[in-house]
Amino acid sequence: MRITVLGKSPAFQDAGGACSGYLVEGGGVRLLLDCGPGVFAKLRQVTSYVDVDAVLLSHLHADHVMDLVTFASALRYGPHEAAAPRLLAPPGARDVLASLCAGGSMRPDHIDGAFELSVYDPEDVVELGGLRARFRPVPHFIPCNAVELAEDAARLTFSADCGPNDALVEFAADTDLLLSEATLIEPEEGHLTPAQAGELAARAGARRLVLTHFSDEADAAWVRAEGERGFGAPVELAADGAVYEIGRA
Ligand SMILES: [Zn+2]
Ligand SMILES: [Zn+2]
Repeated sequence: MRITVLGKSPAFQDAGGACSGYLVEGGGVRLLLDCGPGVFAKLRQVTSYVDVDAVLLSHLHADHVMDLVTFASALRYGPHEAAAPRLLAPPGARDVLASLCAGGSMRPDHIDGAFELSVYDPEDVVELGGLRARFRPVPHFIPCNAVELAEDAARLTFSADCGPNDALVEFAADTDLLLSEATLIEPEEGHLTPAQAGELAARAGARRLVLTHFSDEADAAWVRAEGERGFGAPVELAADGAVYEIGRA
């Protein structure tokens, strides 16, 4: 499985960056995990958008979904004839995605009509070609799901946005790569500091920890040092364009 970071910014983009978005390739499938502001342009730098088989959303905050508007515009108005990609979204998605395009700015079905939308239940296990997706609700300001993508025995676990919790420790147990948010400078509700992300990953026994969803206005050396203090081992900092391979080469 190959993971390309398209956007690692938090709720507002880094200079030249993008909010939450990761291209995951494995099991014969190209999957876009989250589609925040700026992600569509970053996606186009690494692959054609018509080659994306599915988009999967962890939750419905703007920094994880807004570029579905422009992605849908490309599918509708671009020059390619292609099958609609699947869009796997959490409960409540139909109303939220319609509201992004309501009020006369665009058709309310702008997104819904461009993708093959299905609403997942976090209890579901979703098979996408040779990739298997599982979900685990994690504490955030709105319903939010950590996501596991597995190809055979290789596992990627994405924290999505969350505060400290035990659910993710259990869900990410022994994972090959934990892609964890590390939004905060000081502990607060709803998100993790780099040290808290490191501690959570250590409790889970994650083999590898990549920190993401932190701002370029945070001191990267401090983010790394705090993450490593919590994890007790080296950590990696996500950067736009970075590629991680797990499982078979
Ligand atoms: Zn976020
Ligand atoms: Zn969020």
